[in-house]
Amino acid sequence: MVSCSAERLEDKIKTFSKFGDTGRGGITRFSLSPEALVARKEFEKRMSALGAVIVTDDMANMYATIAGSENLPSIITGSHMDSVKQGGNYDGILGVLSAMEVAETIVTEKIPHRHPITVVVWTNEEGARFEPAMMSSGVICGKFEKETMLASEAKDIPGYTFGQALKESGFEGEVKNRLTPEKYAALVELHIEQGPVLEAENYDIGIVEGVCGMINYEFTFTGQADHAGTTPMKYRHDALYAAAKTIQYLHDEFDKLDEKLVYTTGKISAHPNIHTIIPDEVKFTLDARHQNPAVIAEVLEIIQKIPAEVERCQVKYEEAWTRRSVAFNSELVNYVENGAEQYGYTSKRMYSGPGHDAQYVADVIPTTMIFVPSEKGHSHCELEYTPVESCLKGVNVLLETLLTIDREM
Ligand SMILES: [Zn+2]
Repeated sequence: MVSCSAERLEDKIKTFSKFGDTGRGGITRFSLSPEALVARKEFEKRMSALGAVIVTDDMANMYATIAGSENLPSIITGSHMDSVKQGGNYDGILGVLSAMEVAETIVTEKIPHRHPITVVVWTNEEGARFEPAMMSSGVICGKFEKETMLASEAKDIPGYTFGQALKESGFEGEVKNRLTPEKYAALVELHIEQGPVLEAENYDIGIVEGVCGMINYEFTFTGQADHAGTTPMKYRHDALYAAAKTIQYLHDEFDKLDEKLVYTTGKISAHPNIHTIIPDEVKFTLDARHQNPAVIAEVLEIIQKIPAEVERCQVKYEEAWTRRSVAFNSELVNYVENGAEQYGYTSKRMYSGPGHDAQYVADVIPTTMIFVPSEKGHSHCELEYTPVESCLKGVNVLLETLLTIDREM
């Protein structure tokens, strides 16, 4: 079987790791930042050298296409090049570099293909500087209003909008270049797992069946601020204690549900946050994810059983946002699994906890994803790492999957 090149892949990873290098093994490369624009230019240079025709759409998503032998819709693969602050060299970018390596292999090995092959770079996947995440795939797939997105303000410069960054980038293209079902037959996105499962269980490849649904709730506990030295315990309205008891209740009850359920309180605030004052207002978030909507419904039932008053404090909660569970195209999922098998790689079927651009595209054209292991599960940090040999296995499966799609669709 044809193998992509580990050397070329390593060169790509090393080259792109310079764009936004923090000097500590990671990168900070916000979407449309000067570092990101250099990365885009390198992408253009390398894809042009392969003979690709490159266009951008009105959200600056880039599409680099090598022609096929027939007049058919394109098979598309890629990911994002932006990172979180002090992120790693694999999240997103590996999907772009893998797609580039597959294209390079097809061109240099002269592998026949009927469909054109397109390498895509999505704009602002992380939403690290301009919220929300998956902004541009979201706009072209009808999830977000473009005007609202253009008005999204940079977290570091008040008043500076995504729309301005887009204009100044030089990469704002045309609406007619957007991904549509007429022009594109199927999408496959390779990504790092961003979790510890594949490595811990010794699998080469994650066969991604879909993306977990999730809910995000914000809780507010209102008590009474009083002196920490004078107020007897039985008279207190301690909002932090009420919140702590509620978090404990949620953990106890959620642990009775399916073991694939994951849930997190990652954000908490206490007012007035002074060591001599009983807190009068505490807020915390709850993020819960599972592939099965029925389990998410059980989570909601548990939340709804929280009494209106806990430890003499008033309890309120509201849904901040939700994301429904997305199932990928089952045929494509099978192609990925067969591809892994043909190379003799071990694989595991799984759902993605994190969101990805592919989940929006899945509503428009047949879509799936391929995961490669993340060392110790680290991601969104400078420790993020996947050895090039492990990356290469994913790239080979990507190549085989695209060629299968080319034959079958
Ligand atoms: Zn990503």
